[in-house]
Amino acid sequence: MFSTVIKYGLETVHGLAVTHCSSLSALRSAVDGSDGEFSLAVLDLNLPDAPNCEALDYVISRNIAAIVFTGSFNDRTRETVLSRNVVDCVIKNRPDSISHLISVVDRALTNARTHVLLADSEEASRAELLALLRQQQFNVTEAGSGAEALRLLDTCDDIDMVLCDIALCDMTAYGLLSEIRQRHGEDAVSVVAVAASDDRAHAARFLQSGGTEFIQKPLLVEEFNGRLFQVANIQKRIQALHRIAARDYLTDIYNRRYFFQYGPRMVDQCLRRGGTTSIAILDIDHFKRLNDTYGHEVGDLVLKVVAKRLRALTGDEHLLARLGGEEFGVLFNELDVSAAHDFCETVRLDIAGAKVMADGEELSITISIGLATIEGPETFDNYLHAADQFLYMAKYDGRNRIVSELTLLKAMVS
Ligand code: GH3
Ligand code: MG
Ligand code: MG
Repeated sequence: MFSTVIKYGLETVHGLAVTHCSSLSALRSAVDGSDGEFSLAVLDLNLPDAPNCEALDYVISRNIAAIVFTGSFNDRTRETVLSRNVVDCVIKNRPDSISHLISVVDRALTNARTHVLLADSEEASRAELLALLRQQQFNVTEAGSGAEALRLLDTCDDIDMVLCDIALCDMTAYGLLSEIRQRHGEDAVSVVAVAASDDRAHAARFLQSGGTEFIQKPLLVEEFNGRLFQVANIQKRIQALHRIAARDYLTDIYNRRYFFQYGPRMVDQCLRRGGTTSIAILDIDHFKRLNDTYGHEVGDLVLKVVAKRLRALTGDEHLLARLGGEEFGVLFNELDVSAAHDFCETVRLDIAGAKVMADGEELSITISIGLATIEGPETFDNYLHAADQFLYMAKYDGRNRIVSELTLLKAMVS
């Protein structure tokens, strides 16, 4: 009964794939036959062919995170089991045990997707926090000082949370917090402080300065786990909202807002490295005519097809967005005008070769491209304006072509 209900809950509510094994031998063959795809095991301590926690031993030996769900339990077994590094133990004795178990699974999986930067200058205390974080499935990177933490934050862009001791060897948690907020903005990472001092003013000051959470030492493990999960969960939700806000609803590529938000940072980074790059505006030719002839729905389909092809060509390397209507922007990642021109030519030919059917007819779609160079610091609007002027020339010149300073130079020479 328990396994049926749990399987149902995990599959339907949380969309997980669940394999049920009713004995140790079934468990062995499921795990041995898998390709490491099990991220978590929920298991009873006693199975018909494994009366003494052998299933737990086996799961731990295969490096699969374990949550124990059992009826035969007392405080001593709980202590023993928890000391084996399992995520949690849930006892089968209450009506809400199953929903509790399901929330523990949810917590473990959310934590596993959360990258924590642990900053503590004292080895023993760092080791204690590291063990707790790993037990709760967090993905952890360690830093021994504030400077190291800041360097790691600059280089890894997937850190979700910083957990820091209030007094690092080179700065306080307040100093680190303010530096993080300055460099990475208000909600790119959550910052949690841990303090051994019983001066309550620390908590108030840290939270007032924009810290996310404050945890007092000595740690109460369940409280620590609960608070960190809350932080991780909220951080993941904020990220999901950011993702939605950055996307164009029709084509699912980035939207104009994201292009203007992220573009200037990308240009800054490139110029600081001493590089040059390019920016292009791509506009579908005679799109209004296409809409008028075949209808708005076909127009939408064409926009999706073009966006998909652009996405495939730009990949994660370059920043692509739908700027509005039938207009797309590409900010290249360090491509000079000549390399960017070659890239645009590939794009132009790819779109011209696309086959889109409407009313049994094959549509021919072409795009015009304005391409501008980015060599020195100017406003982002200016770069885009330059590309727009080249685009205007491409339209004027007959469409289905690229115009950049390179093409203008070539035209002058010939
Ligand atoms: P040109 O070759 O000079 O670019 O001409 P054009 O017809 O492509 O350009 P114009 O700016 O005159 O028309 C753009 C059209 O795009 C007008 C507008 O109705 C249509 N449009 C804008 N957004 C959408 C959309 O989301 N879906 C559809 N189907 N059409 C859109
Ligand atoms: Mg157009
Ligand atoms: Mg247009």
